[in-house]
Amino acid sequence: MDVRTLFLAQTGALGATAAMLWLARSEADERSGLRIWTWAVTIQAVAYLLLANAGRLPAWLTAFGGNALGATSVVLFFAAIRRLLQRPHPRWPLAVIVAAVAVTGGLAGGKYEIATIFNGYVYGLVQLLNGWALLSSRQGLSRRVQRLVAVFYLAMGVILPLRATALLLQGSGVDYLDHPLAWQEPIYAFGFLFVIVTNLGFLLMCKMRAEAEVRQQAMTDELTGLANRRALDQAIAQALAQAGPGRPSFAVAMVDVDHFKRINDDFGHSAGDAVLTAFAQRLRAGVGPEDLSFRYGGEEFSVLLPGVDLTGALVVAEHLRQQLARPASGDGLHPVTASIGVAAWQPGDTADTLLRRADLGLYQAKALGRNRVEAGQAGAAEAAPA
Ligand code: GH3
Ligand code: MG
Ligand code: MG
Repeated sequence: MDVRTLFLAQTGALGATAAMLWLARSEADERSGLRIWTWAVTIQAVAYLLLANAGRLPAWLTAFGGNALGATSVVLFFAAIRRLLQRPHPRWPLAVIVAAVAVTGGLAGGKYEIATIFNGYVYGLVQLLNGWALLSSRQGLSRRVQRLVAVFYLAMGVILPLRATALLLQGSGVDYLDHPLAWQEPIYAFGFLFVIVTNLGFLLMCKMRAEAEVRQQAMTDELTGLANRRALDQAIAQALAQAGPGRPSFAVAMVDVDHFKRINDDFGHSAGDAVLTAFAQRLRAGVGPEDLSFRYGGEEFSVLLPGVDLTGALVVAEHLRQQLARPASGDGLHPVTASIGVAAWQPGDTADTLLRRADLGLYQAKALGRNRVEAGQAGAAEAAPA
């Protein structure tokens, strides 16, 4: 087998990958780690090009430059994976790795097997760390892809030190670039697969992360950061699917800021926005950890209260009302109050009937003077205004 040709092929594959990544670059790459990855691929392509020309180019260029660039790409891959998994890492060990590999490679000069042995242990450790980070990450971008890529990193993390040890035992003096040993061939083949799987794997993980972010955004209210109406619809559908006779009940509260229009009129729209944001925080803090808060729209909010019947829901809602009506305490909230309508699940309920009952309670709370909690009465629907 001709290792130089193999290295040139690697250069081609990495160079093409890098070119595609640069073409498709976007701002989001910074956050996902793809920008670091792109640099790593680019630098690795150059490193392989230098290694493929070992003996033809000046030794300092291939030995020092090739190893320095190779090590840089390895630590950048590491940093990119950490960024993707949102795991911080210290930088100085990476700088130490690059310096150690570059110096060792430079000192070894034309004796490339020395660098291969040294790098085998160092890179092996880095690949084991990569594999472990991917396996143990709670990010859950895609468990299956993550695990597959992790297996490749772990395998590489074992193979590299094993090869280094074999080369070490064999003694130096072997020009492995031009006379590779047959037992190394499967390792080179694996190296090719490794490049494909890790690059595709990283891209797929970035794609899944972007999709998850979009899903999250679609469920979040931009102003208050609360879950939005779409999320409420889903949460109610889920609660309805789980509800049934003999199972724990659940309830919905509709919360509407009293006379909110006056805030806008008196202080301006952006002051109104600030009130809504502070109000949303109080809302979230005013309910239990299991309860889910949503911005229904405008100055109307909803809370889904799992595991409670009407009596329990009224207790929670009354506590919430008092918390919301508290005088301002540094959260920038102009004094406001809110009216709350509550409805608990009944057999045969749909999302519509449930929300409608909660709305009826809210309407009643407004009609009875605001800043109060009322339960929506079943059967009163016909009497209520649309
Ligand atoms: P009530 O006690 O009957 O609920 O009176 P209200 O003034 O709160 O109710 P109304 O429905 O008359 O007014 C709601 C106001 O909320 C009108 C609208 O301009 C304002 N609003 C809705 N969404 C936003 C928002 O995102 N930001 C701001 N600043 N105002 C909003
Ligand atoms: Mg209102
Ligand atoms: Mg309203």
